[in-house]
Amino acid sequence: MNKNRQAVIDQYRKMCICDPCPTCNECMRADDALLFCVIGRSPTCTFEKKECLCAACPVTRALGLKHRYYCIRGTEREQP
Ligand code: SF4
Ligand code: SF4
Repeated sequence: MNKNRQAVIDQYRKMCICDPCPTCNECMRADDALLFCVIGRSPTCTFEKKECLCAACPVTRALGLKHRYYCIRGTEREQP
């Protein structure tokens, strides 16, 4: 990953509001997993789907995202 891409990812990670989401669980927090919309779903954690806060996230506005539940369904590009 080049430096610019990493800087952009770091910036979006700080904007990500997954942590207070009811679907986010201890497994995800232990992995420090965020920004699922760009990085992809967690390969190791399982989830109970409760609610998704992505619609209110500044990254959704910044990137024009259309989908939800990226932690379960994968990145914006992976979803149909
Ligand atoms: S859109 Fe969802 S997964 Fe992406 S940064 Fe925001 S809260 Fe996290
Ligand atoms: S992607 Fe959506 S459902 Fe998953 S933790 Fe983030 S806000 Fe919650």
